[in-house]
Amino acid sequence: MESFARTLHGVLQDIENAAKLAGRPGAVKLLAVSKTRPAEAVRALAAAGQRAFGENYVQEGTAKRLALADLPLDWHLIGHLQSNKCREAAEHFDWVHSLDRAKLVDALDQARAADRPPLNVLIQVNVDGEASKSGCAPGEVAALADRVAAAPRLRLRGLMAIPEPHPDPAHRRDAFRRLKQLYDTLAARHPDVDTLSMGMSEDFALAIAEGSTMVRIGTALFGARD
Ligand SMILES: *Cc1c(COP(=O)(O)O)cnc(C)c1O
Repeated sequence: MESFARTLHGVLQDIENAAKLAGRPGAVKLLAVSKTRPAEAVRALAAAGQRAFGENYVQEGTAKRLALADLPLDWHLIGHLQSNKCREAAEHFDWVHSLDRAKLVDALDQARAADRPPLNVLIQVNVDGEASKSGCAPGEVAALADRVAAAPRLRLRGLMAIPEPHPDPAHRRDAFRRLKQLYDTLAARHPDVDTLSMGMSEDFALAIAEGSTMVRIGTALFGARD
């Protein structure tokens, strides 16, 4: 418990230092990526003050949310979303970072209950054009964003990407930069857009330098995954 608090504090400090260096103090949020970690690890981090948690799988995230229903947490789905999981995702998550095709827009919009706030949505971009990766092509963002913005039960918040884990930091930096440009174009068209989700344990300082407003961090908070 004690050590969770210390680790969280250190990561938050590193984020804030990078944000200040970028001239944007207070502008970067931490999403704690709790995939593969037990609900009790989430509880410990929540006790240290963390509110937002990210999960890759709908089923795993739903189970943790239900186990921790006594806590006021925000749950973010950051993994690939299958259309047959949209109903469960719209019920149990507050954010979806991985919307990458039109089919998911209608499915999530129809599944989100009318008595809940709209589901927050980020469009995932396959910024390096990797064949194996989720995400829409950069050229598809505008049309997809217009569809999300027109869906009454969804709220368009911005973009998410996972750049290729290239050993050369300049390569990743270039991907972050291209994402920021896409984000600025999107924000000019949709003024409510406020979230650019990019950067993980290895590269969050670089992502913040290039304009990230939300970093998704697992390993640096919880240690290496099995
Ligand atoms: C696992 C994961 C992360 C966190 O990665 P770490 O390197 O453990 O910080 C962030 N984003 C996505 C989409 C992930 O799947």
